[in-house]
Amino acid sequence: MGRLKRGISILFLLMSANFAFAQAYDQKVADYILKVEHPLTFLQKIEKFGIKEPGKKGLDSTFFWLKELIEKDGYKTVTQNFVYGTDTLRNLLFSKKGDIDSCIIIGAHYDSKIGAGVNDNGTGNFALYQIAKLLKPLQTKYTVRFVFFSGEEIDYLGSRYFVKTLNKDLVKIKFMLNLDQLGGTKDQDNTGIKCERDEVSSKKVESNLLAESMSKIYSFYTNLNPVITPAYSSDYLPFRDSGYLISGIYQYSSFPYYHSENDLLRYIEFNSLVSTTKGAVAFVLYHSQSQIISGIVANRPKSQNLNVYFTGSAFVIAGNETYEFSVFDNLGREISIEKELISDNKVSVQQLKGGVYYANFKTKTQSINIKFFVQP
Ligand SMILES: [Zn+2]
Repeated sequence: MGRLKRGISILFLLMSANFAFAQAYDQKVADYILKVEHPLTFLQKIEKFGIKEPGKKGLDSTFFWLKELIEKDGYKTVTQNFVYGTDTLRNLLFSKKGDIDSCIIIGAHYDSKIGAGVNDNGTGNFALYQIAKLLKPLQTKYTVRFVFFSGEEIDYLGSRYFVKTLNKDLVKIKFMLNLDQLGGTKDQDNTGIKCERDEVSSKKVESNLLAESMSKIYSFYTNLNPVITPAYSSDYLPFRDSGYLISGIYQYSSFPYYHSENDLLRYIEFNSLVSTTKGAVAFVLYHSQSQIISGIVANRPKSQNLNVYFTGSAFVIAGNETYEFSVFDNLGREISIEKELISDNKVSVQQLKGGVYYANFKTKTQSINIKFFVQP
């Protein structure tokens, strides 16, 4: 095929590779995540169901309750059964269909060990539920697949089974996000949040970008101080070990009562759990490329796409849609510059000082982010 085609595909690669960097504060996202609910009622239920180990009633009750909650929000669920000794354990699957099938998988285990598991992992279940609920009315580019895993406390049985039975040719996975023990802990330092990355597999560079993007989102939209830490001992590991890109969120405070009878509501600090959940929602809104207009479903008319590329001193814009153009610095602050329109399809940025910047081109149907470098 011709040279032109190849040029276009290279352009798309560059744009998607740079997407993770190009993040700017968005007031609509900040407004939308205010819809995150207070976790009290949810966690009371988790506590009431008691121990969620195989063979215990609490495991089944939690499963059926989560299934009912999710279905009430308009999702269709699928139960994935797998055998453990004489028991049958269940993963609960559901998904939010995007414009394309390529997906983000969000997982949180609902089984517990020894105690009721309000922190481990009622807090992760709460966040997953809030993400699902808030994403439901929005249009997203990427499909988001949610999984409540069972058997995490038995060497990640549920996530192992899920990964093993995935049809790798059919399911294109952008990344897997794990939600396990989101805190906070009463009477401890809850000012931070751990953004987790894979530090061992061949995907570690991309995973670091994902964790950096998460940390940026937490700085933009919450009062939590993000720290980047290695992915450790949870359901993302079977995904990592099968070659998938992963990230996770983990509480900053240590929780002294995990895997004990004292993993109870009375040790949970709610404010930081709400902030952690808000950041998680913002992260998913961003990476699923959701359309938010004041929390109302955006109408995305099918129309011509805008293609943009950077020449080193100017942006060349292909397509005939009208667009808004903004430039941000490394910290996400908008730079007001005289936007020098060379022609209808060429914008110069020569007046910028040397450094790294992010450009955003917004049309009625698209938001294109491009990281670019101006020579000093
Ligand atoms: Zn856990």
